[in-house]
Amino acid sequence: MSLDSSGISWTDGTLNSLYGCAECSVGCRLCYAVGRVYRNSHNPKRNGDGCFDGLVKNGRFTGKLLFDPKHLYAVLKKRKSKMIFVNEFSDLLHESLPMELILEHVQVFQAAYWDQFQVLTKRSHRLAALNKSVLAEFGSWPENLWLGVSVCSGAKLEMQRIEHLGATAAAVKWISCEPWVSDMNVPLRKTFPSLRRMLRKNKIAWTVVGGESGPRADTSLMTLDDAQYLLKESKAAGSRVHFKQLGTALAIQLGVYSTRGKGEHRAKGGHPDQWPEGLNIREWPEVSWKSLAGRPQFNPAYNSDQRKRYRLAARQK
Ligand code: SF4
Repeated sequence: MSLDSSGISWTDGTLNSLYGCAECSVGCRLCYAVGRVYRNSHNPKRNGDGCFDGLVKNGRFTGKLLFDPKHLYAVLKKRKSKMIFVNEFSDLLHESLPMELILEHVQVFQAAYWDQFQVLTKRSHRLAALNKSVLAEFGSWPENLWLGVSVCSGAKLEMQRIEHLGATAAAVKWISCEPWVSDMNVPLRKTFPSLRRMLRKNKIAWTVVGGESGPRADTSLMTLDDAQYLLKESKAAGSRVHFKQLGTALAIQLGVYSTRGKGEHRAKGGHPDQWPEGLNIREWPEVSWKSLAGRPQFNPAYNSDQRKRYRLAARQK
């Protein structure tokens, strides 16, 4: 995974300026980032200075973070326009990250206007404060920053993130319903008949839908009915939609699970020929891509020492 490549269907590359996190949602149960960060802590090339130590303990994140400014500022050297997913091993709005470091990210995204930055958070309780700070500091949200929230089930705690996002003035708002964990007793269309209205009211431009991937016996199910409902209501609300994968459990249930076909993600039901009719739709929001012509000088107001990695202590909500 790098700025120029990614195995994620909805992006072109990943920017990893942060490592470390803490579980905060049903969607965190099989978080793949834990294993990756743990492996980094045992890699002498990556952890020669001990910076990765203590981010993971007993197989779980501790809430401590590592900030690596070099990776953030690397986007300014890029020339080819891409979609870039921000921090797959952390959460940019994590409680342990001070607001000024979040604003430093926003400033760099604004300066790298030829790219589209896809930010995704589960910490939507920080969005109101971030919105205020961004407007005070920059006047408006950068057009090339897609601000998104993860919504992993129909529970109130998950769905309210859409309202928090809607209250911001971000230029592009999106939701990722991945991993979607269905309630086995009642379909989403019954518990949440007002989804379309909610998405329209909060101006959600893009919805990504996917089931949970992981070990065969352990993954939660996204029901086919919930997947269809999420896509249909998003479309009806005017959002672009992107179906990512069935997830392991639904692929097994539909009889299309397979471990063959390297790179095709068949074990998580990520290949279009595994999908029932109507799911094969992969769109992106309509945005304007800017060319590099007339690129102005970048004068950073926030300027971390790019040679130094920073450890950030765990902080609670
Ligand atoms: S918020 Fe994301 S990175 Fe953090 S624990 Fe949950 S799934 Fe993992």
